[in-house]
Amino acid sequence: MIELINNYINGESKISNTNEYIDVFEPATGNVYAKIPNSGKGEIDEAIISAKKAFLQWSNFSIKKRSIYLLKIAEKIQENIQELAKYESRDTGKPISMALELDIPRAIENLTFFCQHASKYKKDFKLQSKISKNDIISIPLGVVAIITPWNLPLYLFTWKIAPALIMGNTVVAKPSEITPYTAYKFADICKKIDLPPGVLNIINGDGEKVGNRLAGHPEIKAISFTGGTTTGEKIFKESSKNFKKLALEMGGKNPSIIFEDCNYSKMLDTVIKSSFTNQGQICLCSSRLLIEKSIYEKFKIDFCKKVSELVVGDPNDPKTNFGAITSKAQYKKILDYIKISKEQNGKILIGGKAKKIKNRCEKGWFIEPTVIDGLDIDSKLHKEEIFGPLVTIQTFSSVDDAVTLANNTKYGLSATIWTNDLKKANKIAKQIESGVIWINCWMVRDLRTPFGGIKHSGYGKEGGIDALRFFTEQKNICSLV
Ligand code: NAD
Repeated sequence: MIELINNYINGESKISNTNEYIDVFEPATGNVYAKIPNSGKGEIDEAIISAKKAFLQWSNFSIKKRSIYLLKIAEKIQENIQELAKYESRDTGKPISMALELDIPRAIENLTFFCQHASKYKKDFKLQSKISKNDIISIPLGVVAIITPWNLPLYLFTWKIAPALIMGNTVVAKPSEITPYTAYKFADICKKIDLPPGVLNIINGDGEKVGNRLAGHPEIKAISFTGGTTTGEKIFKESSKNFKKLALEMGGKNPSIIFEDCNYSKMLDTVIKSSFTNQGQICLCSSRLLIEKSIYEKFKIDFCKKVSELVVGDPNDPKTNFGAITSKAQYKKILDYIKISKEQNGKILIGGKAKKIKNRCEKGWFIEPTVIDGLDIDSKLHKEEIFGPLVTIQTFSSVDDAVTLANNTKYGLSATIWTNDLKKANKIAKQIESGVIWINCWMVRDLRTPFGGIKHSGYGKEGGIDALRFFTEQKNICSLV
């Protein structure tokens, strides 16, 4: 049976009054299992009005009182972790093991982390001179919008909602139309724990209609967005008429720079993960491997052997560590880039095709993990974000060479450097145009640190104090001594 997903407005699960619905697919089978409303103007505005009303009370609660609600939500997620992981895996095609070990635990951590972090944050302070006394206070912004993508649905949804709410804002959130299900279940949890009506509203629909309305709406004071760079540009333009605060986390084309003098086996184990976790659909995945010339041939053999050991299959199978591609459009896009690589004389070292999985997943969207070398320096496969299990490799002969290749794209989200020479690594880290740089590791996150890309990958930072600051506005109240 196809389930109808409701909006969550003013504390109630609401059947939409639109006639327009969007199919929600299970990528592993290619079947539709739910539908979301492509919500209309009236519903979006109703959500904004209810958030505006709720702001009056919520913004006056202390951080401690708001924490009580957020921690109750975290507890409920923990109680329902198995179920939520199953939903996340069904919606995205990711292995159930990943949803259970990474996505849902991180949603819990986001909520608990921001409660603790906000309780220690000294948001108000005083400055005095011979002439004046200044009280600098931080106040919440009002109603803010959260717009999230499909690759890490509940993980990124909570990453934004938690700092917004804890700092006293109320929220209208729009999950990706491709993966709306865990946000829908999140609304049930908010109802169960009696989150005051209107504090969080979840409104479903596509970007052009619902996202665009939020971006341009005069009552929305800030937008925290994660998604593609082209969408980021559209939100930037649409929101500019109201001078909204913006945090835009966008695409990446992340290099992994691998030197001969690295811990080779540790590097190999990690680079497999950084290339193919979530089928390469994490914004932080390394999609460009830059290998020092002296180890290039050996690396190709060893890396491809490791790739061949990945277990591609039904995401429900606990042994699977490589699942389906999340949308049909994304599946087609990746296969198109593989075709282009052939036209550009790229050499496919492993993979390069759609993968057939038997039984339940026969019609699912699976693609073999793919490694390509031999492309020209300026090939679009080295420069454009593909966002899938497709990795290109290039060789370099000097540090300068490596840095030039690493910076040869408009993106600047993350980079990884593999060498045992830490002095060299730190020097290179400063030259690389990326917001996050890992040395001899990948995806290690201390949530207190600023997170975000530079160049076309990010506008504003998230994480830690930056997120708390983003969701507040400073005021200076000045009087004479
Ligand atoms: P997307 O940009 O297509 O969609 C993201 C969200 O924006 C969705 O909710 C979508 O409905 C909405 N949207 C689309 N058009 C809109 C518009 N005109 N106005 C307002 N909202 C609109 O991205 P996606 O395909 O869902 O996700 C993949 C992208 O996300 C990749 O580029 C990836 O690199 C990026 N991403 C970045 C980070 C990061 O932290 N930098 C993290 C995860 C994903």
